[in-house]
Formats: sequence, C-alpha cells, structure tokens
Amino acid sequence: MKEHLKNDSVNISHLLDIIKKQSTEYLNSLADRPTSITSTFISEAIDIPEYGYGTEEVIKLFNKRFEPIMVGSAGPRYLGFVTGGATPASVAGDWLTSIYDQNTQSTKGQGDISANVEMETIKLILELLELPDSFLGGFVTGATMSNFTCLAVARQWLGKEKGRDFAKEGISETIKVLTATPHSSSIKSLSLLGMGSNNIIKIRTDGDDREAISIKDLEEQIIKLNGEPFILISSGGTVNTVDFDDFIQIKKLKETYNFWWHIDAAFGGFAACSDHYKHLVEGWEYADSITIDCHKWLNVPYESAIFLVKQQYNILQVETFQNSNAPYLVDPLADFSYLNFLPENSRRLKALPAWFSIMAYGKQGYRDIVENNVSLARNFGILIENSNDFKLLAPVRLNTVCFTLKDDDKQSEVGRFLEMLNHTGKVFMTPTFYNQHKGIRAAFVNWKTTETDVQLIFDTMNNIITQLK
Ligand SMILES: *Cc1c(COP(=O)(O)O)cnc(C)c1O
Repeated sequence: MKEHLKNDSVNISHLLDIIKKQSTEYLNSLADRPTSITSTFISEAIDIPEYGYGTEEVIKLFNKRFEPIMVGSAGPRYLGFVTGGATPASVAGDWLTSIYDQNTQSTKGQGDISANVEMETIKLILELLELPDSFLGGFVTGATMSNFTCLAVARQWLGKEKGRDFAKEGISETIKVLTATPHSSSIKSLSLLGMGSNNIIKIRTDGDDREAISIKDLEEQIIKLNGEPFILISSGGTVNTVDFDDFIQIKKLKETYNFWWHIDAAFGGFAACSDHYKHLVEGWEYADSITIDCHKWLNVPYESAIFLVKQQYNILQVETFQNSNAPYLVDPLADFSYLNFLPENSRRLKALPAWFSIMAYGKQGYRDIVENNVSLARNFGILIENSNDFKLLAPVRLNTVCFTLKDDDKQSEVGRFLEMLNHTGKVFMTPTFYNQHKGIRAAFVNWKTTETDVQLIFDTMNNIITQLK
C-alpha cells in the first residue's frame, strides 16, 4: 500500500497526463456518446484488495468496469429532466476544487478562509440575475437542498411569529403552506422538516392550461386563514411547462398579508439573464428566499446550487442551522461561518466552478446560452406543431417542450414511443403527465446544443413513428 501511495505521489504528473488525455477524448466525443445505457450493469463482483493496485492500474479497471456505463448526459441531446452541461471553465474550476481541497466554511477563519471565494461568487450570481445584494447566499448540493434550507428558515420565521422557537422546541402545531404547482423536492423538504407533506393547502392554477398560481384563489385562501401567518411556495419556472407565478401580484399581497414568500426558481431564474425573458421574474427580488440551481442553466458540474435568503433573517437562519453554542446571535456575520447557515458542516469549495464559468463567459456568455436554448426549444416546438404525429401539450414558454402523440387514441403508445426513442441513444427525454395526457418533456439547458441537434432529434422521432406504424 505504502509503495503504491509513494509511487503515485512521485508519478502524479504522469497520472494526470493519462487523466487529461482520457478527459479530452471524452469531451471531444461527447456529442456521439450514447445518451442512455441499454444493457443493465452486469459485472463480476470484486472485493477490496489487500494491497491495492496503484492508480494507473485502477484507471484501467475503471475503464473496464465503469467507463462503458457513463452516458452522455452532459452532451447536446440529453433533454431529460432539467440537465445542464458543464462549460470548459467550470470543468477547470471543478478540477482545481479537488486539487486545492479546501474545507469551505469561514471568511475570517481558523486556518481556512476560502468562504471568501463563495461570498464573491454569490455576489457575481446576484449581479448575473440582477438581484439586490440584500440576499445572503451559499452553496448547497442541489435545488432540493436549497429548497430545504430556505424552507427551514421559513419554518423558524413562522415559529417566531407565533412566539415559538421551533429549532429549539420542535414543531408543536400544523404549519400552513400554500402552493399551486410545487416541485416534488419542496414537498420532500416539508416532510424532512417535520412540517408534513400532507399539510399543504393547494391553490388553484390560473386556468386549466396554466401551472401558475391563481392570485384570486390565493387571496381567498389567505383570507380563510384569518391572519394566521403561513408559508407560500411559488414557482419561477415549473418543470412541465416552465410557467411562472405572477410575482408582481404576490408582492402586492405581501404588503397586506403576513407570510414567508419562497420562490423555487431552480432553472427559470436564469430568464433574468436575457432582456427578452427577464419580465418573467419581475418582482422576484421581493421574495424572502429563492432557490437557484447552478448545475442546471449555469452549466457547471453536479453538485451545485445556491440558496438566497434575505439578510434581515440572518438571526433566524443561524438559529436554524447553528452548529455550536458560540454567541453568534449577537452578530452572526461578525464571525461568519457557513456551517451556521446551512445543513452541511464540512464542504468542498463548491463555488469555484461557478466562479470560473461566470468570470470566463460573463453576462454576455450566459445571455447567449439562455437565448440559444430558448430559441432551440421554440424551433423544436414549431416542428412539433407542424407535424402530423405530435402535438404540444402546452405553449413553449421558455426552454422546455411538453408534447405528446397527436392522436389521442394513441395515448397508450406514448410510453412505448419514448422507450424506443431513448433506446436509440441519440437523444434522451423524460415522461410526464400533464393536462390529462401522458406526455414527454424535452428541456434545453445545455450550452452545446445546436439547430443540427434539433433536426437530428426530430428525424429520429419520425423514424420511431414509422417503426410504430
Ligand atoms: C431540478 C429542480 C429541483 C431539484 O433540484 P436538484 O438539483 O435535483 O436537487 C427543484 N425545483 C425545480 C423547479 C427544479 O427544476
């Protein structure tokens, strides 16, 4: 063992050369990499080696056992879920994150002060999204954990409104959560936070063909609460049809009623990068908390997302997440450490890939990525609309196309069609159910995707239709 460790350490340059070569080859052929894996992983079980093999041999082992099951999910035609790619700069930042291997917590710190990088990155993201600097932000693993973090502070706020300290006492009563079309991860967060996923009050949407909240119904439900404080979970881009709640109207309600306003803008928030689409998020700066996913439209590698919580709630946030009995409550920013503001304690320097990418491509770079993806989605939507075999289930509002087979009698074939399509390995989409229809979602979130990809995808779809007939 010692031998291998010593050899590896002496040969690090050689090892990194191998990795560099393999990485370059992979990235350069990413567009041709299958977007899904057709065979299930069957490989002989292996046991822990007594002395190990050394890294060079282990690379070979990885290439034999696991490399073949890596899919081109960072490639241009992986349109499933909401899957971003990784820009070259973000890959560089991610690589260096491992090399420098910081444990990112504090800005003034005991030993390590890498949280300054995180603070600076948050500032840059606020500028990119044209949000005010009144938000405190930090990095977590994904939008799920961001929703969790924001809703945890909301829970503490609500307790305080009722004269309770839920962080210390636990929750002793039902918390009212109002929402129309929440992402599943918000529901999961409610169950993790002890608020109960069954306790949401569902607000109607603004008509059958919308996923956005009906402001009228929202106000009616609020009035029924008789002044009881509550939490509102609103959407800045729903996953099926990328619908946005009316933030201007919600802001008006907030002037009259007492509630915590959370926006899940995991990917839709990036509409703010473009003059054409920023109206969709107009008024979002008045929210108490916002979720933004960076491994989606910021196109940095997994696992990267940020929470944004208004700084006026710093104390509530520390009450929720504090890891020690230190007197942070006096001034939580004076001896700032992220471990008192979010779920994790030890963390890698998660912000670095985002910092690299934002500095490498700037506002214009992200404007181009967003506008290119939206334009591809719209063009794909036009192909669908003009086709004899497919139809849209919702208008293409931003970067996602939600569609199905045109003939309603063929609803039972939607699953089979999608399975065959994904089986080609040329494109990957995910199923959904929307407006009483089995549907398919294609989300454009990758900087690499081009018009040629859209045409190839559409041709592949038509081939499958011919096979089905
Ligand atoms: C993707 C997504 C999430 C969950 O994000 P993860 O990064 O997978 O944790 C939450 N909300 C919305 C709107 C999303 O699109």
